[in-house]
Amino acid sequence: MSKARRYLIAGNWKMNGYKKDGRALAKGVAKSLGKYLKKAKGKKAPFDMLVCPPYTLLAPVAEELKGSGVALGAQNCHTAEKGAHTGDISPQMLKDIGCKYVILGHSERRADHGEKDAQVKAKAEAAIAAGLTAIVCIGETLAQRDRNLTLATNRRQLKGSLPEGATAKNTVVAYEPVWAIGTGRTATPEQAQEVHAAIRAELVKALGEEEGNKVRILYGGSMNPKNAKELMAQPDVDGGLIGGAALKPEDFWAVAEGCL
Ligand code: PEP
Repeated sequence: MSKARRYLIAGNWKMNGYKKDGRALAKGVAKSLGKYLKKAKGKKAPFDMLVCPPYTLLAPVAEELKGSGVALGAQNCHTAEKGAHTGDISPQMLKDIGCKYVILGHSERRADHGEKDAQVKAKAEAAIAAGLTAIVCIGETLAQRDRNLTLATNRRQLKGSLPEGATAKNTVVAYEPVWAIGTGRTATPEQAQEVHAAIRAELVKALGEEEGNKVRILYGGSMNPKNAKELMAQPDVDGGLIGGAALKPEDFWAVAEGCL
């Protein structure tokens, strides 16, 4: 399977893992990619691979991933570069430790910390200014889907959260229906594609035909080795943001194999 856009397989480890587990998981992910690349004899994989551990594991995981081709990301950042913000981490600090990406506006942060679109947008702009790629998450709740508000909700969240100056290089959008996250319920490939196509149309409106068509749109919500291939076969599904299945290297790799 191949597309004009390069797939991105991103693991969101959430608040899981101690040093030993994090190192082992990172080692496992790096090993799988290494094995694949060795077999491919110099041919590039058709996907980028990324893991986003909790802050406490960024340093040890960065060590394990060195030279592996697996990128490192974080799960949140502040808008400021430094200063009196107890408990926060700046995008520059993430960059300094080796991060290339940062997940922003995940529905769990929107729910647990009351993050709103404007704040997500500001964080994404700060992340981009620091040289990171922002993964901007949007998605409807079950109540919104039941009230036929799926497309309107995603359009509104995208408009509100999309950073100024977004490009295909510095921004990735993740469509994560809240009702599918960690629930074992997955959007059908058709449901995912319907929303991805609407997101694509908004991106084209906001960024122009060329750039809007280049931005990667990930699906997230109980993606696993069984459903990954079908989801990623959809024309506007450019990879996955994976929670539960990213915590076992063999499952994470099996998801990645869905785009081979
Ligand atoms: C997520 O946390 O972004 C996610 C999609 O989780 P899960 O794969 O466990 O549903």
